[in-house]
Amino acid sequence: MKNLIKSLIMFLIVTSTLSCTSKSDKTGEPDNQFNYFVDQFEDMRVLRYRLPGFESLTPKQKELIYYLSEAALCGRDILWDQNFRYNLLIRKTLEAILQSYPGDKETEEYKAFLTYCKRAFFANGIHHHYSSDKFVPGFSKEFFTGLVKNCDPSLLPTGNGKSADDLLNLIVPVIFDPALFPKKVERGEGKDIIAESASGFYEGVTQKEVEKFYAALTDPKDPRPVSTGLNSRVVKRNGKIEEEIYRSGGLYGEAIDKIIYWLEKAKNVAENETQKKELEILVQYYKTGDLKTWDDYNVLWAGNTEPVIDYINGFIEVYEDPLGMKATWEAIVNYKDPEATKRTETITANAQWFEDNSPIMEKYKKEKVTGVAAKVINIAMLGGDCYPVSPLGINLPNADWIRKEVGSKSVTLANITDAIDIVSAGSGMLGEFAASSDEIERVRKYGSLAGALHTDLHECVGHASGKLAEGTDPNALKNYQSPLEEARADLFALYYIPDRKLIELNLLPDPQASMAEYDSYIRNGILTQLVRIRPGKQIEQAHMRARALIARWAYENGKKDNVIEMFSRDGKTFVKINDYDKLRTLFGDLLREIQRIKSEGDFEAGKALVETYGVKVEPVLHSEILDRYAKLNLAPYTGFVNPMLVPVYNDNGEITDVKVEYIDDYLSQMLYYGKNYSFLPAVLN
Ligand code: ZN
Repeated sequence: MKNLIKSLIMFLIVTSTLSCTSKSDKTGEPDNQFNYFVDQFEDMRVLRYRLPGFESLTPKQKELIYYLSEAALCGRDILWDQNFRYNLLIRKTLEAILQSYPGDKETEEYKAFLTYCKRAFFANGIHHHYSSDKFVPGFSKEFFTGLVKNCDPSLLPTGNGKSADDLLNLIVPVIFDPALFPKKVERGEGKDIIAESASGFYEGVTQKEVEKFYAALTDPKDPRPVSTGLNSRVVKRNGKIEEEIYRSGGLYGEAIDKIIYWLEKAKNVAENETQKKELEILVQYYKTGDLKTWDDYNVLWAGNTEPVIDYINGFIEVYEDPLGMKATWEAIVNYKDPEATKRTETITANAQWFEDNSPIMEKYKKEKVTGVAAKVINIAMLGGDCYPVSPLGINLPNADWIRKEVGSKSVTLANITDAIDIVSAGSGMLGEFAASSDEIERVRKYGSLAGALHTDLHECVGHASGKLAEGTDPNALKNYQSPLEEARADLFALYYIPDRKLIELNLLPDPQASMAEYDSYIRNGILTQLVRIRPGKQIEQAHMRARALIARWAYENGKKDNVIEMFSRDGKTFVKINDYDKLRTLFGDLLREIQRIKSEGDFEAGKALVETYGVKVEPVLHSEILDRYAKLNLAPYTGFVNPMLVPVYNDNGEITDVKVEYIDDYLSQMLYYGKNYSFLPAVLN
């Protein structure tokens, strides 16, 4: 539920840039000439990532990466359908137009149509991936109807004897009527977060009905509870509520069978016996949908830290479910980055020291922090909910009891973070929003390292810290669980960044580095992250809520000592920290309180914190920030195209090598995936 850091969250100042607008010069670039930038449209930009050191992997390791990568691409349709039940129909219609529309493509309306397509591909559906609002097309219904009627009808998802008109009758209102399915996930207070969400986890049921349905299936006393509801859609049929399980032969079975096919191949070239066993169990789980098998798999996977090649493949993160139960499908494939892993190993080796010295209540400290396997990895393939918007750090599995008994794997994604860092280095954000030149200098000097260290602390020790009181329901915080959990991990990192221990451990060069992190965090939480919110909207996303909560709480609670100051210069708002030591104390206080809330399942206190500090946007400040940001002409959301992994076969049909081809055309990759990795039916009924 907690641990996927979505793109950009740590790089507070670096939201984006256009500094690198040149197109790629194709493959084989030396390090310093690699062109990361691919595309930019509306509030989104697309980069490429490099695969450093891929060539030096063994042929067998590359073969394993190849099979796992194919498995990672095969579930794409699942996510589209989970996001919204008409997404696949609409995507196939867009693809048909992009591939076969013969008319003029230089008109403003066609360009607006292209932008709409790019945004939909970016979001895996017609709702914004972050704000969850339905996209507003920049072209007319009539224009769209003309596109559909003039493209190759054999490419349209009609079938069943239906016509293009039938298709249009269904999807035109869905795309154009602002009142229909306006939000993918409705999180507003006082709303029925199930009935009013467009996402495809539930159909025809209310929040009350779902809560009642699952309450009957959950035993709060079970010390090793399965993740109830994780891999299913809940529907009402003839007045009866039931689950449709994602599995071979069940819901999404056609795509799951393809995933299984590639996992079976991967199994045969696994790096060790445990990995082989683990893949076997994962296949078993995909065949049955049995959540106990999923836990068995995770227990093995979490404990298997040896392999160089690792992966994630499954229904895992529950951010997109308004009730925090149902998981979207996601996949990544990765390999270890040995140098940077040393840093996180140092943190992990000292995990118990961090736990023992943390400001949380003694009774909620873990006596023994187990197995926080921290490493730095490079991504070889992104799939499902990790594509095109990648996480920067991952900490899994999510089941609390597995984390407690076996531990968890925690990784930071080096090549993804590098791409963002490099492209962002010339960003004008810092110049616009930093309060002083000292601040800018500090961030330039230490920002990258301090940000990486924050991510490491957040992932390796933050999420792993603390324990629940006896008998506390792990889901007690409901829709406030995600932001509170992210806040808890962030606070853990913030509390420790200025600690002398980090300098002793050689993780930070000097105290100035922690000041850089504090400046960036507060500036982002109070000011700059607002650039990602549309006018009139509130903060929805869990990590953003966490950052707002922490920064604004610290501002309010430090007011009497003027710990953080907001001031105006030339009509622009700035924020600056006056007392770094006191701020650290405040972070410690809030960490202690949020740990208490989690440990005791204090829903009301958690809700009050999130609603008071983490949600609302002050409209005057917001519009000022948006104005200043608009002048910089940057895009706040980053996604990535994947490289192509091309196997080389010998005469016996065996893979002897895998070549990396870097792609620089975003839409082409999307169409290629649509053509080669689309396995779910999208037929008009
Ligand atoms: Zn996290």
